[in-house]
Amino acid sequence: MLNIVIFGAPGSGKGTQSERIVTKYGINHISTGDVLRAEIKNGTELGKTAKGYIDQGQLIPDSLMIDILASVLDSFEDSKGVIFDGFPRTIAQAEALKKMLAERNQEVSVMLDLEVPKDELMTRLIKRGQESGRADDNEETIKKRLNVYHSQTAPLIDWYKQEGKYSHINGLGELERITEDICQAIDKVR
Ligand code: AMP
Repeated sequence: MLNIVIFGAPGSGKGTQSERIVTKYGINHISTGDVLRAEIKNGTELGKTAKGYIDQGQLIPDSLMIDILASVLDSFEDSKGVIFDGFPRTIAQAEALKKMLAERNQEVSVMLDLEVPKDELMTRLIKRGQESGRADDNEETIKKRLNVYHSQTAPLIDWYKQEGKYSHINGLGELERITEDICQAIDKVR
C-alpha cells in the first residue's frame, strides 16, 4: 500500500501534482478541499458549516475533518493506496491519520513537501481566483490562509521529519520536472 501525504501551502501545486500521481500509480485521491466544496455545492448541512470557515480562510475543526476523512477512506475498495491532498493540516490531524492507518495495518509511506516561495504563492492564487472564481482565492482570504498555513500547518514539517517520512520537493519551476522529482521520492519508498 502506498500512502502519500502531499503537503505544501495553498497554491503550491498539490492538486495538479496529485492528479499526475493518481494516473501514474493507480491509487485513490482524497482532496479534503474538494470534498468540502462538493458538500457546499450540494447544499448539505456539512457544506453550510464548512462554508463559514472556508470563506474566512480558517480551518474546519479537527474532529469534524477527521470524521470526514475516515468515511472517505472507508469508501475505497481494493485500494492500492491513497494520496492525501490537503490533509493533515494540523498535528492533531496527523496523529489521527497515523492511528487510522495503523488500525488498518498501514502507515504513511512518505510526506512530500512542495516548497514554493510566498510571493509566487500569492501570484498563483490570485490568478487561480480570476480563472476559476474560487471564492476563497481573493487577496484578503489568501493572506489569512497563508497565515493559517504558517501557524497551524507548517509545524507538520518537523513532525514528519521526526517520523522519518519527510521528503523535500522544490515546487518552483517546470511542472514536468516537479513530477519527476515526486516520482523519484515515491519510488524510493515503494
Ligand atoms: P484546499 O482546497 O485544500 O486549499 O482547502 C480549502 C479550504 O478547505 C481550507 O482553507 C480550509 O478552510 C478547508 N480545509 C480543507 N482541508 C482541510 C483540513 N484538512 N482541515 C481543516 N480545514 C480544511
